[in-house]
Amino acid sequence: MLEKTGIATEQDLAGIMPPKERLAQGPVAVIECFQRIPCNPCYTACKRGAIQEFEDINDRPVIDVDKCNGCGICISNCPGLSIFVIDETYSDTEALVKIPYEFLPLPEEGTFITALDREGKAVCRAKVHKVLNSKAQDKTPVVSLIVPKEFSMVVRCFSIDDFYSDNTIICRCEEITLGQVRELIRKGYRSLDEIKRISRAGMGPCQGRTCRQLIMQEIAAATGVKMGEQRMSTFRPPAKPIKLGALLGGDDHE
Ligand code: SF4
Ligand code: SF4
Repeated sequence: MLEKTGIATEQDLAGIMPPKERLAQGPVAVIECFQRIPCNPCYTACKRGAIQEFEDINDRPVIDVDKCNGCGICISNCPGLSIFVIDETYSDTEALVKIPYEFLPLPEEGTFITALDREGKAVCRAKVHKVLNSKAQDKTPVVSLIVPKEFSMVVRCFSIDDFYSDNTIICRCEEITLGQVRELIRKGYRSLDEIKRISRAGMGPCQGRTCRQLIMQEIAAATGVKMGEQRMSTFRPPAKPIKLGALLGGDDHE
């Protein structure tokens, strides 16, 4: 199911969820990285040693939830946008969910947005608590949302309703706007693969990590074919371009 739709199933999630006792102690990272891919910035970013060293670069990350303090540094370093921090101790009724967010504009702190689940379905209204946007290159902004506690393990994205327009860029790598995707659907391109091939949406370095779901959501809205019934396009692991100097001299090369 995950390979077909890109959406984690309950079975996938069961293996990575922190125990309830740990969630009751404070913020902790949840790593929703389900495929073996050559990637490990989560491990190198965590200075607390909470993510185990990879024996093989293709290993899936394994977290020691007792060493994790929920700082969220790994979120902004993960090119797969696979890491979230959940704080169920935020208040009696609310939880804080830290989410990687790569769209522009970023939401403003204190505003309300529509929180979405892993399939892009609206779940609840949520308040934007904080927006961290590091000036360092290649770091993903992190948005903290205040959500009703029962949705802490459900909310994984959000929509800034007022800002979505035809000019909103939904594929950042190839700079494809929502309007271009809508126009293609109107012209009769009704599958993710068709839209990808004609527009290049999803063909950039991130391989459609977020635009895949957004395009499927648009197809669902226009045609009534649910996301789970649509066919996922093929995609490769996300790539991170590096300078040739790094290859020649390693990390310390000036
Ligand atoms: S949230 Fe912080 S402590 Fe926890 S795994 Fe990520 S970087 Fe390490
Ligand atoms: S995609 Fe993110 S969580 Fe998965 S291995 Fe890479 S950095 Fe770690």
